[in-house]
Amino acid sequence: MNKDFLYSRSNNEHTKIKLKNDITIGEDFVIIAGPCSVESYEQVLTIAKSVKKSGAHILRGGAFKPRTSPYSFQGLGLEGLKILYEVSRLVKLPTVTEVLDPRDVSWVSEFVDILQVGARNMQNFSLLTEIGKTQKPVILKRGMYSTLQEWLNSAEYILKEGNPNVILCERGIRTFETYTRNTLDLSIVSAVKELTHLPIIVDPSHATGRPSLIGPMSLASVFSGADGIMVEVHHDPKNALSDKDQALLPEEFDNLVKQINKTVNFYYNLKNEG
Ligand code: PEP
Ligand code: MN
Repeated sequence: MNKDFLYSRSNNEHTKIKLKNDITIGEDFVIIAGPCSVESYEQVLTIAKSVKKSGAHILRGGAFKPRTSPYSFQGLGLEGLKILYEVSRLVKLPTVTEVLDPRDVSWVSEFVDILQVGARNMQNFSLLTEIGKTQKPVILKRGMYSTLQEWLNSAEYILKEGNPNVILCERGIRTFETYTRNTLDLSIVSAVKELTHLPIIVDPSHATGRPSLIGPMSLASVFSGADGIMVEVHHDPKNALSDKDQALLPEEFDNLVKQINKTVNFYYNLKNEG
């Protein structure tokens, strides 16, 4: 690891990113929830109201979807962003959405509070450079085949342009295991904490692909030292237009938040005891 790089940790510094609802990423344990894709105004509003009531701090929803098949639903684009913006205003939750193309960075930024660089774009250097020229907070997902060093170098592409608001997100990597969608590498969370001052969150939805494993992995994320989690929630998963098999139902998410809050309290007390 290069000590002179901007991502490197010197002494006890921690990057903190304050959002408009007074939640600070890098300080509070943040819970991001919402559908994989924005599908309609009613869909986003229903899910947003429900996750907000349960205690989510940030609403997620993809308007540009990087799909394996070019014939799968690609997202609503501008229409999806307008929906996200409107719902965010109504429900009073900051939002995050994925941006796929460097040419879209500036105008997409006007609709959301946080940008997301997806796993498939972690090394899209022109996208990273373009985001670096803004001050927009950005969630940088780990590429599914990327080492820690490669991931941190991608963060450096953004930091180097002058945008300090980078949040890393571990979302599982490809291994020989097929039971889970990916393999959640929780050790990387603790490693990231040793090496950088950047906040890191965990996405147990894409990491496991299985609703039954999302709860346990969310709680484990707290103990790994993560700064938060991002979870996919849908009120009608059977009819979801993407990632239907991994969505939590609103009531499952509600239970999860209760467990997370207890776990976070327990973990913070433990840490404070030394
Ligand atoms: C997503 O968050 O819906 C997504 C496409 O994630 P990833 O880039 O981690 O596959
Ligand atoms: Mn998804």
